[in-house]
Amino acid sequence: MESNKSFVHFSDVSTLKVALVGNPNCGKSTLFNALTGLHQKTGNFPGVTVDKKSGYTKLTSNTTAEFVDLPGTYSLYPKSIDERVAFEVLCNPNNPDHPAVTIVVADASNLKRNLFLVSQIIDLKIPVILALNMMDLVEKEGDVIDVVRLSERLGVKVVGISARNKEGVEALKLALLEPLPVPQYDFIDIKKIASELIDKITDVVKVNSDFAAFQIINNFSEIHYFDTESDKKTKIKGILNATKIDHNKLQSQESLERYKVINRIVEECITHQSAIKTISFTHKLDSILTHRIFGYAIFLSVLFFIFQTIFFLAAYPMEWIESLFVILTNWAEHSLPAGELSNLLINGIIAGLSGVVVFVPQIILLFAFIAILEDTGYMARVSFIMDKLMRRYGLNGRSVIPLISGVACAVPAIMSTRTISSWKERIITVMVTPLMSCSARLPVYTLLISLVAPVDKTIGFFNYQGLILMSLYLIGFLAAITAAWVMKRILKAREKSYFIMELPVYRSPQWRTVGLTILDKVKLFLFDAGKIIIAISVILWFLSSHAPDDRMESIEKKYSNSNTIKNTDDVAREAKMSSEKLEASYAGILGKSIEPAIAPLGFDWKIGISLVTSFAAREVFVGTMATIYSAGNKDNSQSIRDKMRAEVNPKTGLPKFSMAVCFSLLIFYAFAMQCMSTLAVVYRETKNWKWPTIQFFFMGALAYLSSLLVYQLLK
Ligand code: GDP
Repeated sequence: MESNKSFVHFSDVSTLKVALVGNPNCGKSTLFNALTGLHQKTGNFPGVTVDKKSGYTKLTSNTTAEFVDLPGTYSLYPKSIDERVAFEVLCNPNNPDHPAVTIVVADASNLKRNLFLVSQIIDLKIPVILALNMMDLVEKEGDVIDVVRLSERLGVKVVGISARNKEGVEALKLALLEPLPVPQYDFIDIKKIASELIDKITDVVKVNSDFAAFQIINNFSEIHYFDTESDKKTKIKGILNATKIDHNKLQSQESLERYKVINRIVEECITHQSAIKTISFTHKLDSILTHRIFGYAIFLSVLFFIFQTIFFLAAYPMEWIESLFVILTNWAEHSLPAGELSNLLINGIIAGLSGVVVFVPQIILLFAFIAILEDTGYMARVSFIMDKLMRRYGLNGRSVIPLISGVACAVPAIMSTRTISSWKERIITVMVTPLMSCSARLPVYTLLISLVAPVDKTIGFFNYQGLILMSLYLIGFLAAITAAWVMKRILKAREKSYFIMELPVYRSPQWRTVGLTILDKVKLFLFDAGKIIIAISVILWFLSSHAPDDRMESIEKKYSNSNTIKNTDDVAREAKMSSEKLEASYAGILGKSIEPAIAPLGFDWKIGISLVTSFAAREVFVGTMATIYSAGNKDNSQSIRDKMRAEVNPKTGLPKFSMAVCFSLLIFYAFAMQCMSTLAVVYRETKNWKWPTIQFFFMGALAYLSSLLVYQLLK
């Protein structure tokens, strides 16, 4: 392969746009982090909802490199949304993110497959640097890659790196400043496959290479190079319509040709020294972890362990946070001047804030586990062993990751369904993921479970509270797959689905990645969910402390004038007055007006208020309860749980939060679609209001009917 290259030179450019592309799992994010450190931001690619990470680093005092991390892709066939974004950015020179230089990150321990993408990019004549990542693994396996030879054979610059150990990253930066060969030769002769059509296309539009023309033939509807030139588009459409094209055949011929060349190159450039140890270790481990029986048993045990640990470990810091807020509230009550503003601060803002912060420990733990499972490579095995099972329910192996992530939060989970290439399986996954019990339900569950089960009660080894919690997660999961099964029957498929996923070798987790993931999720929860929760807490405070006309004033007057009431002790009188005020307030009116509809579920108007506000976000339930009860009962030294426990049903004289009420509420929260953010994301992902609307109503109906059943059976 002769490489008569020309060069581009960027050392005098002030901002150099660089794109990072590569196969999933090649270590692209690790490299991106190593290159940009803290100078990162997240956004969206224009027009689509794929997350875009960009960042920068200074190469010299005059030149800054601006990196954009493109979604992982195996090839430049725009099949899934992620691949489409990578395709569009690389191939369309008018795209705002179109790079001057592309760094293809390749997993050197899996060179053959990774070179496929490299070869396509070479054929598009894009200036490219190949970052051969994971060189540490290659070394460990005793293999040698001849980087100089590889660079000669490919006709592009090759830099061996180990992103994880930050080795070679500086060399990669320097390489950006050196003259860069632009591939001039064709990696494969694509004309062998579709010569006539390519000629016809190149007669109409000017493209960089024959392969670019081939891409137009094969992916016409995805290509926007020449969107502004509608006459050319019409002409090409005419050409393509006039010919019967077998796209699959063209693509497989292309792959075949590419692999012929790649195999030769790999043979020349890699010397295998040993039977690769890590791989055999991986094989051994896989024979257990993906075993027909043990695989599932181990997966279940892992889940079980995670939930027990979360419940057990998080309890301590949660208690500390709770006491801190009690101290803060007491302090504020004693030191702030009495009045509307202090009242807003104490009963609105602080009460709402405590309801948010207290759940941070659980979120940290859960995401730590998820990140570790991902990073070690176990999550990929879970997808693999679950594929067959999932398929039966209209889902596929890739649905497992969204479903499991749904345990943390449906919002990122739904966004992660983009890797599912089948439309039907993706929609089903999107629709049922919110049935998985997310972390926003955890606060509600924790509070209600603590009302029905004592902390120290155990069954055998197992903590009783932990068992109830696990059952709720299981119920969510069962509901999700049942709903999926139903949808599988209703929805029509648009295309055949297939599952390709390669299993990465097992690695020890990288703690930095785990840490960053946790930080990211906590920030997301505190700021995104926190904003809504606090805003609603403030609204609620207003609704629960204000009433139409001058009802509040007349209640106050009644209490200060009546002698009989005056005689009872101060605290009791105050509490009685407060609860009367709450009942008279706007919130009371709202809660009461829905009471007839929710009474069959065992809910009264106070719970009614919380249900209404929870439609913004579930965790608001706890904040609402806190606000309602601190508005109705001024004694803040008791935590909200104790206040609820002390609440008595005036009709029966028994505790209001009985077993039946608590379980009915638990089921309601397990099923109802109470999250505005999720609905918004579902709309964004499906681009159709139909789906979030259906989701809202089917989950609502499921919640109502199940709660009704549970309450009527238990009461
Ligand atoms: P991405 O999917 O391409 O963004 O890949 P990630 O950056 O998430 O990396 C995938 C896995 O490879 C993670 O477990 C990383 O810790 C690991 N990894 C990344 N770079 C290296 C490396 O240079 N050497 C080794 N041994 N592992 C790496």
